[in-house]
Amino acid sequence: MTPISRLPRIARSSATPWSPAARVAGCLALLALPAGAQPAARPSIVLRAARVIDGTGRTARNQDVTVQGGRITAMRPSAGLLPAGGIDLGTRTLLPGFIDTHVHLGWYITDKARLHEDRDGDTPEVSTLQRAGNAWATLRAGFTTVQSIGEADNAVLRDAINAGRIPGPRVLTSLGSLNERTGGGTPDSLRAAVRRFKARGADVIKIFASKSIRDGGEATMTPEQLDATCGESKAQGLRSVVHAHSAEAVQRAARAGCTQVEHGVFADDATRALLTQRGTYFDPQCGLVFHNYLDNKPWFEGIGNYNAAGFASMEQAIPLAEKGIGLAAATPTLKLVFGTDAVAGAHGRNAEELVCRVRRGGQPAMDALVSATSRAAESLGLGQEIGRVAVGYAADLIATDGDPSTQIEASQRVSFVMKAGQVYRNEGTGARR
Ligand SMILES: [Zn+2]
Repeated sequence: MTPISRLPRIARSSATPWSPAARVAGCLALLALPAGAQPAARPSIVLRAARVIDGTGRTARNQDVTVQGGRITAMRPSAGLLPAGGIDLGTRTLLPGFIDTHVHLGWYITDKARLHEDRDGDTPEVSTLQRAGNAWATLRAGFTTVQSIGEADNAVLRDAINAGRIPGPRVLTSLGSLNERTGGGTPDSLRAAVRRFKARGADVIKIFASKSIRDGGEATMTPEQLDATCGESKAQGLRSVVHAHSAEAVQRAARAGCTQVEHGVFADDATRALLTQRGTYFDPQCGLVFHNYLDNKPWFEGIGNYNAAGFASMEQAIPLAEKGIGLAAATPTLKLVFGTDAVAGAHGRNAEELVCRVRRGGQPAMDALVSATSRAAESLGLGQEIGRVAVGYAADLIATDGDPSTQIEASQRVSFVMKAGQVYRNEGTGARR
């Protein structure tokens, strides 16, 4: 079950008059953590925005967006006085909450300024709070949904956030990953592993089909292994997300019918054409993940393949990665989605990747925004639930200072965050139209 399915679909109803008590409750909601998943009890809120970017490429001027019971219930041209308790966003731009389809919420930098590893002395309590901090940093930055792919420990975090006990983005997670050696690597053992992940509550299956970029990135899973793994995922009603760098590895994933390919630094024209033809979602990274490693080497150096050769590989990948974004964006109907691969140190900086995609990769800014909203939602199987400012959609709404469709850096200036109708952040600039 996905977190979204817990959101009640509500009947449209007329606005509830705001009592003084309700107004106080509304103000407290700005400060307090969510008390629980009971959005239906909240009165309606009208958000007035000078500009609305709807997540599908359209912009509207001067709109009033009504939110009730965690969902958007109306959107119409602004008129008259803002109802009591309404929120005037002034000159800010209202958008759907951003969606990052590839993060690692469990990764964090310890108080000793090192990547957290098993047996580094951190207690489970410390680790838990660090991860909760990552979730809050991500939500504050305007990312209201993430897909955290890799770690078994994400289940507790996902469930605490989705139950409304702590603040964070909606979390979908794979609870671990599969590779060519899992269960001995036979097709049957890989299928069984997929079913075990499903039984444990995974929202998605994560598959490593190539080596790390730090180790050259060549294919590791055979076509038969990918057919078994992605085929069984599909049979179990789960999406499959595949780590693949080399052209061959990406092509094997596309041919096997896997849902989404991550990275693809060495994808060429033929590979992009195949992804397009197979309808495979493609999530290459532009820069945040590389720069986070290279700018903060002391956090990682000496752990696994974080060595001189590994860092050099990442440095060499940057121009390729930037170019790859532009080539992918220019490939008609290729389903280019947004995912940062945010690891320790990058949580809350996710929008830097949007800036890289536009400024370094040459992706049109509006297309970058669509890839991080409605198209990302579609890639998660949530295209009818999130990723748009439209009636009936979950009220995951953010506001930026400035218009990110003309100046993408505005995506880093998020000052209002609402998730499922709950306001988590509202730092008005005081600017008025
Ligand atoms: Zn990753």
